[in-house]
Amino acid sequence: MLTSYHNHTRHSDASGTVRENAVAAQRESLDELGISDHLALHPGGVQLKWSMSEAHLPDYVADVLRFRESLKPRVRLGIEADYFPETVERLRALLARHPFDFVLGSVHYADDFQIDQGTQSWKTLTAEGREARWEVYWRRVAEMAQSRVFDIASHLDLPKRFGYRDSEEAPPGALKALDAIAEAGMAMELNASGWFHLVQEPYPSLGLLREARRRGIPVLVNADSHRPEHVARGLERGRALVREAGYTEVVRFEGRKRFPIPL
Ligand SMILES: [Zn+2]
Ligand SMILES: [Zn+2]
Repeated sequence: MLTSYHNHTRHSDASGTVRENAVAAQRESLDELGISDHLALHPGGVQLKWSMSEAHLPDYVADVLRFRESLKPRVRLGIEADYFPETVERLRALLARHPFDFVLGSVHYADDFQIDQGTQSWKTLTAEGREARWEVYWRRVAEMAQSRVFDIASHLDLPKRFGYRDSEEAPPGALKALDAIAEAGMAMELNASGWFHLVQEPYPSLGLLREARRRGIPVLVNADSHRPEHVARGLERGRALVREAGYTEVVRFEGRKRFPIPL
């Protein structure tokens, strides 16, 4: 059984429709397609251009649900929601109003620093500045897990995107974040999109994936597509890496409940 749960449409920062993604997923012989557009409740009240607005959420949900009856692929209603300490309770209340199958939890900000904005913002930092951003990042991931608002941790170690890596492969902050994810009973994804970014490596690295396996954290393999033709991009390679880390199964979701499937 093949799934791909992290895919964006024109409801946030991609151009394809839900239908175009479903057609592409069928072509790739996927059994399940998760749609997971961005919802970021910025603490400053800023409407981020890559996120749907809070007001748009019901329309998004209705659009995805129109496809939930299709059989191949089965369409799952997800969302990629940002964790911000200031707005997480508002997010919790908002998510409870809709019949989500899964909620991806993402950290795209280390305080006011947007992690994945571009190379330039990392380049202009000092080495200490970069290390400080990494530390805040891992702290936010741990808090995200502790909030119990999310089902799946997205693209762990995303700050390496432009090649500015963490001080070591599995620093104490990252291990604490993994401990928090395990304790919260959350799953995480192996996000294949990093292979196509500057860093040319998935999120997270094999080292962290092994640490996740050691902690019994369930895993999914996702493409994080922003174009319909990318719904299955890197998935085969991702599954091989997950196997290499010692996993023998992955998981799928329905109504925010988790089910294992053999790898
Ligand atoms: Zn993301
Ligand atoms: Zn995404």
